[in-house]
Amino acid sequence: MSQLNSTNRVKVRFAPSPTGDLHVGNIRTALFDWAYARHTGGTFLFRIEDTDTTRVTDEYINAAIDTLKWLGLDWDEGPEVGGDNGPYLQSQRLDIYATWAQKFLDQKDAYHCYCSPDELEAVREAQRKANVAPGYNGHCRELTADQIAAYKAEGRGAVVRMRMPDGSTTFNDLIRGDVSFDHNFVPDFVLVRADGSPLYTLAVAVDDVLMKVTHVLRGEDLLSSTPRQIRVYQAMGVAPADYPVFAHLPFVMGQDNAKLSKRNGEVSIAWYREMGFLPEAICNYLALLGWSPGDDVENITMKQLTEMFTVEKVHSSPARFDMKKLEAINGDKIRALTLDEFLKWSLPFLTKANVITGTDAEIELVKKALPLIQERIIMLNEVPKMLQFLFTTKFAVETESVSKITDEGSKAILKRALKELETVTVWNHENIEAVLRASLIEEMALKPRIAFTALRIATTGSTISPPLFESMELLGKEACLLRINAGLAL
Ligand code: GLU
Repeated sequence: MSQLNSTNRVKVRFAPSPTGDLHVGNIRTALFDWAYARHTGGTFLFRIEDTDTTRVTDEYINAAIDTLKWLGLDWDEGPEVGGDNGPYLQSQRLDIYATWAQKFLDQKDAYHCYCSPDELEAVREAQRKANVAPGYNGHCRELTADQIAAYKAEGRGAVVRMRMPDGSTTFNDLIRGDVSFDHNFVPDFVLVRADGSPLYTLAVAVDDVLMKVTHVLRGEDLLSSTPRQIRVYQAMGVAPADYPVFAHLPFVMGQDNAKLSKRNGEVSIAWYREMGFLPEAICNYLALLGWSPGDDVENITMKQLTEMFTVEKVHSSPARFDMKKLEAINGDKIRALTLDEFLKWSLPFLTKANVITGTDAEIELVKKALPLIQERIIMLNEVPKMLQFLFTTKFAVETESVSKITDEGSKAILKRALKELETVTVWNHENIEAVLRASLIEEMALKPRIAFTALRIATTGSTISPPLFESMELLGKEACLLRINAGLAL
């Protein structure tokens, strides 16, 4: 079963139901789907599963599209780009699912079920008491015409239910090997609600067949829905050799080994974007969750990922999310940026934080300052804090550092520095450093950490800043002297 027809080109799909911002688990799936399609020279199809209109909103759909674009996971078929198998929003394909559901009814693969929610609950309760597997008991499988007429006369609505034959379903999962489901644990399932809307199992299976998907790589949480999907393929008349190949990716667990959840803000990709993680860092890190390029390699480019990615190397055991590792990779990716790239990524953070408005003069200064911090930050949201001292017109020493420069020792340092700096005619970091070292370190015999921390606070307002002498050079002589004077007055 589940053999890829050898004449088919690989087609992999990512099919989220965006009921919120896409999260780490969704994106790990999207990334593996994309990487597999690119590795095999196949097609990457993007489909939005929005049949649950109460939970999937336009806003979330647009955000999902935007997130994939931002990450660089380009798709060959799907929203915005189109394709031969569209539309790619399930809400625009309702007539297709209705047609198939009717066909299944006509073939007697499916039947109308009139059981009310209360009756279904009573069945479940009885099953709990009898300690048997929960699930539909087949009550409406063989209703007579009279019984149906009676239900209709009562005004009862009906769902469409798929008949699950006795036996079992076995399929070969590329990651887990042969997986079997005994149908005693796969009861007849609903395809269409009483209001006519399709359920996931119907829509997903119909679309995977009609859209000619060859590989279904998705999260392990969907493993147990596979026998139901295979049942739909059978009812559609698909030959087993043409079923898509399945590969269920391992769970992504949180640091505490609990399951990462959508409800936790830190799993949303939007959050990582806001904090200043680069898309390439996120993709690089997520690629390591459940897969590894081997040889302890951890830093890879998107291109290398597409060259190396194979499903066979995906592990079946759960992967653990490690924030520290993601941060380290992000720092590496930031250091690897060219100055122009680093500028492009940093400017939106600086304008959003109101550090700059975006004038040419400001951008010139940012460009000079960025190399000073490129080695020092791990997230782009640190850029505004590191550079704001260069732009502020209302300079003030941060509250928690004020007391560190008001003691006698600090005053003496600032006084002497002021006197020496006034004599510097060519204002560059070499000259600044030379006069400060000669006076503060050699003559006054101060420890560099003490002398320069006082100056750092006075000129940049904080104990954390880019390198001191370069910062002072960029700030300019006049501003430095003004600030040191103001520091002395504190
Ligand atoms: N739409 C489903 C979800 O977001 C996934 C569909 C699939 O990959 O089979 O959970």
